[in-house]
Amino acid sequence: MKNGTKRLAGIIGWPISHSLSPKIHKFWLKTHKIEGEYLPLETDPEHLEYTLETLFERGFRGANVTLPHKEEAMKFMKFVSPQAEKLGAINTIIVHENGDLEGRNTDMYGFTENLKAASFALKSDEPIVAVLGAGGAARAVVAALQEMNFYEIRIINRTMDKARRLAEDLGGNINIFEWNESEKAMAGAELLVNATSLGMEGQPPLDIEIDALSDKAWVADIVYAPLQTELLKRAAKRGNKTIDGLGMLLHQARPAFKAWFGVDPEVNEKLRKFVLEKE
Ligand code: NAP
Repeated sequence: MKNGTKRLAGIIGWPISHSLSPKIHKFWLKTHKIEGEYLPLETDPEHLEYTLETLFERGFRGANVTLPHKEEAMKFMKFVSPQAEKLGAINTIIVHENGDLEGRNTDMYGFTENLKAASFALKSDEPIVAVLGAGGAARAVVAALQEMNFYEIRIINRTMDKARRLAEDLGGNINIFEWNESEKAMAGAELLVNATSLGMEGQPPLDIEIDALSDKAWVADIVYAPLQTELLKRAAKRGNKTIDGLGMLLHQARPAFKAWFGVDPEVNEKLRKFVLEKE
C-alpha cells in the first residue's frame, strides 16, 4: 500500500462502513489540493496489533481510531498525550518519521470547539451542567466541561458504578445522579448534554423529561445520526437553544488533519453539507 509521494492516513475500527471520517478528510484533501488519501482500515480486535505495527511500513502518516479499539490501541503507543492519558483512550495516531506511534485524543477539543462555534457562553457565577451518560464519549465531554470552568457537573447515568468511576477518575466538581433523578439534576442547569447513545439510529429512544430545565438553558446532543435528534427537537420546541453532534465530529478531525497533512482545515457549512449528503 506504500504509495510513493502520496500522503496516507486512515481510520481503524470494526465495523467501519458507517464512519463519516473518510468523507471529512477527503473533502479537506480536495479543498487544499493535497495529494493524499484517507482509507478505511477495517480491523477486528484480533488484528489490531498487526494493523498498528504495520502503519509505518505501509506509508501511513497516521490514523484515527474508533470503536471498539479506542482503549486497547493505547497499549501499543510509544507516546500518549496528557489528554489521552487522562481519558484512557485515543482517537488519533501520529506516525513519527522513525516509526514511533503517538496517541492523542481530540474528542475534548471537538466538543469544546463545537460549543464555541455555536457561541455558547457561561452566564451565571456558578454555572451548572447536566450530562447524560458515563461512557467513553461522556468522559471526553466531562473533561472538556471541566476545562470550561463549570462550577458543578452533574452526571446522570443508568449504571451508577460507571458514573462513580468516571467521577473518581476525573476528580473535581462532579456529582452523580441516578437515571430517575434526572429532573433534579437538570434543575438550574445552563446546559444539558446527551452523551449516551440513546436517540441514535438503531438505538432505543432517549425517553427523558426535560421540563425541569430552564427555557434559557442550552441543549447539546453528541449523537449526530439523526442530526436533529428527538431531544433536540423537543428542546427547540420549548425555546431552548440547541447544538447538534455533527460539529463535534467535524472539529475533532481538525487537529488530526493538521498533524498528518500540515494544514489546519476549516469546519464550514460546505463541509457539513457534503458530509450529510447521501452517497
Ligand atoms: P459507550 O461508551 O458505549 O457509552 C454509552 C452510554 O450510553 C453509557 O452511558 C450507557 O449507560 C448509555 N446507554 C446506552 N444504552 C442505554 C439505555 N438503554 N438506557 C440508558 N442509558 C443507556 O458509547 P460512547 O462511545 O460513549 O458513545 C456514545 C454516543 O456518542 C454514541 O452515539 C456515539 O456515536 C456518540 N459519539 C459522538 C461523537 C461526536 O463526535 N459527535 C464522538 C464520540 C461518540 P450505561 O453506562 O448504563 O451502560
